[in-house]
Amino acid sequence: MMEKRDYYEVLGVSKTASQSEIKSAFRKLAKKYHPDVSKEPDAEAKFKEAQEAYAVLSDESKRKQYDQFGHAAFSGNNGGGFDFSNFDFSDIFDDLFGGFGFSGFSGFGGNHRKSNRASRGNDLLKTVELTFEEAVFGTHKTVTVEVMDTCDDCHGDGGHGKSTCPNCHGSGTVTSEQHTLFGTFMTRTTCPTCGGKGETYQKKCSTCRGTGRIHRRKELDVKIPAGVDNGNRLRLAGKGETGSHGGPNGDLYLEFKVKKHPLFERDGNDIYLDLPITITDAILGKKMDIPTLYGNVKFTIPAGSQPMEKHRIKGKGISDISTGRKGDMYIILNVVIPKKLSRDQKQLLEKLSKTDLEDSSFKKIEKYL
Ligand SMILES: [Zn+2]
Ligand SMILES: [Zn+2]
Repeated sequence: MMEKRDYYEVLGVSKTASQSEIKSAFRKLAKKYHPDVSKEPDAEAKFKEAQEAYAVLSDESKRKQYDQFGHAAFSGNNGGGFDFSNFDFSDIFDDLFGGFGFSGFSGFGGNHRKSNRASRGNDLLKTVELTFEEAVFGTHKTVTVEVMDTCDDCHGDGGHGKSTCPNCHGSGTVTSEQHTLFGTFMTRTTCPTCGGKGETYQKKCSTCRGTGRIHRRKELDVKIPAGVDNGNRLRLAGKGETGSHGGPNGDLYLEFKVKKHPLFERDGNDIYLDLPITITDAILGKKMDIPTLYGNVKFTIPAGSQPMEKHRIKGKGISDISTGRKGDMYIILNVVIPKKLSRDQKQLLEKLSKTDLEDSSFKKIEKYL
């Protein structure tokens, strides 16, 4: 008898290979050595060897046994290593060969039922509206989501009064011959009578109309952290749609839509305030109260302030969502030029204009006059 090769060597992967590396190595070999398509002389033996290696290494508990005991771990089976005849290779072959079952090997177990396989629930995305303050300071929100859930009445079966499907005798699939360039293949398709379940029901479940799943409204109390911004997404693991046949739930993503504030504008963790001031305050300077996210603070407009001048107030911005460090607040001076004046004001300004208000920057223009 030929000496059995090491499973890792067969697949050409290292002992520390990840499941996805193992899977892709096997996919490559399956494509190369599949007896129905391969022209290699010992394709069938190579193919079986790869199948056996994959059946063991793709299963973490079998892989552990193999790592510890080698081939001896499975030597009880027909004296020739691991018996993989009941192993389900269908997810690999379905996408390699377009869903057809090939006739050249015994890899398919008799109980392949695609529709009954565990699958992960869908992820959901939900938009949540927040006021400016809710986004800045965090809040609690009750979020209502519509999810597809397993029907309670039929426990997901879709019907009552279960019996074995007379068409496929419970296998969930039917086989027929197909003639192609490569020869005749046995093609395997989902049983049309039972839709792949292998079972039929005397009575369709009226609650879920036979689908086994129902719409359910779920209310979730969600804590929204301080500092979220428009367009940020929060992931709630496992709060999406229920998985089917024991598969894990999907995730729920909340996307925030933050309303504008009448005064403050946000740029990352910084806050901008457009502060209207009079011309005299700009010229003479002034102490005043200004609003911030954290209540009023004293602010001094310096004498001789220029329009659009920017002043920073440290630490009055928004807490960073991950570090908690606060951004800053910027005050933009908006010097408002009056459009209407009283007679007194006009007289005062005319008086003022007769004084010498010029400074060196006007000289530049004079040169060209
Ligand atoms: Zn059937
Ligand atoms: Zn039902």
